[in-house]
Amino acid sequence: MKNCAIVGINWGDEGKGRMVDLMTEKFDVVVRFQGGGNAGHTVINEHGKFALHLLPSGIFRKGTVNILGNGVALDPQNLLKEMQEVIDQGVPLTPENLKISDRASLLLPWHRDLDELEEQRLADKKFGSTKQGIAPFYSDKYQKKTVLAGELFYPEELKAHLADLMEWKNLTLTKVYGAEPYTMEMLEEWIDNYCEQIKPFVCDTGAFLKDAQSAGKSILFEAQLGSLRDLDYGIHPYTTSSNTTAAYAPIGSGLPSAKVDDIVGVVKAYSTCVGEGPFVCEMFGEEAEELRKAGNEYGAKTGRPRRVGPIDLVATRYGIEVQGATEITLTKLDVLSYMDKIPVCSHYTVNGEQTDRFPFPVLLNSAKPVIEYMDGWKTDISGVRRFEDLPVAAQEYVLYVEKEIGCPITYVSVGPERESIIVRKKEQA
Ligand code: GDP
Repeated sequence: MKNCAIVGINWGDEGKGRMVDLMTEKFDVVVRFQGGGNAGHTVINEHGKFALHLLPSGIFRKGTVNILGNGVALDPQNLLKEMQEVIDQGVPLTPENLKISDRASLLLPWHRDLDELEEQRLADKKFGSTKQGIAPFYSDKYQKKTVLAGELFYPEELKAHLADLMEWKNLTLTKVYGAEPYTMEMLEEWIDNYCEQIKPFVCDTGAFLKDAQSAGKSILFEAQLGSLRDLDYGIHPYTTSSNTTAAYAPIGSGLPSAKVDDIVGVVKAYSTCVGEGPFVCEMFGEEAEELRKAGNEYGAKTGRPRRVGPIDLVATRYGIEVQGATEITLTKLDVLSYMDKIPVCSHYTVNGEQTDRFPFPVLLNSAKPVIEYMDGWKTDISGVRRFEDLPVAAQEYVLYVEKEIGCPITYVSVGPERESIIVRKKEQA
């Protein structure tokens, strides 16, 4: 069966989690291949409402194997907390349905400290980090200054490795930031309290995936954040520290030879963005507040109000190109039902010239949105399950977006629940 990646096309929070939760029905394995616990995937199903941060969103399906791949930032402390929350709501987590790659690097206690210390140093120039230690973690990973989850099986070697890393890291903590140094006792406590508990889930997930592939099983790759936050292709330097693109899925999952047949890009019917950085289509004032409230746009991890704007066709086209998306899910169409006229950012002007190409990051600061308006539908659409039952204006909005982005919209979601979805046949799209 075919493999599929579910990826974000914009700034994140597009509603990927609900799509993974929905689509896992058709897949045997779900893999998170990048990022850490710094984002939240909201899933609402028969078990309740969950804000998943690191756990793959396929965790609720019986018989689905969920993998945290080598590309993720594995924070044992936060992962355990999240696992406990899910278990407390009646969802079983066992080494059979959750597997952690032995090649995943562990987010070490000092990564969170360094995130906090650096944001303090930057003061008003801060990047809006979620302070989960993700940037310091990935920097260290690329410097080869992390330990792998599989090292937990070799305690003596692990302690020696950690002692070396600690000696190096204490130099930065004390001399650069004037912070307290770490001791081996602190690290041993961290191993005993957190790492030992995740150890039963750690295994050679690469071998597992290879066998699954040979047995004809299907794999779903789950991304965090969106194209515009990709380390290489996003709005540098306001990106995340990993690759959020489908092209990275095989590498970050542990199956570098995997072929990703379908790439489902998730786009919200309007735009949101958390944190600092350029956001060309941003709305302000009362108009923004109304949209934020209608869409309940407050971060799943931090509770921060998200910045909002109309759908940004320029950024979305770029996001689709970067992901190589083969089809699109348009989410939260129901949120726009209160509007008389639906604003759409159709172009940008950069230095007085109109463009529909996404500009180089530096130019984003001077880019201005060109806004056009579509008719609103002013009807509750949350109960609609067939495209042809949507009000004509809502159908026209979807068709207009589809034409402008040049990619078929095969799913339209009209509510957060698993079943609040309109499936369009490929030939309809
Ligand atoms: P993710 O990180 O891409 O999975 O997205 P988030 O979970 O951060 O944000 C999506 C939010 O929108 C969550 O609160 C979802 O429950 C909610 N949501 C998803 N789809 C819909 C929809 O079609 N309509 C409405 N009203 N809410 C939705």
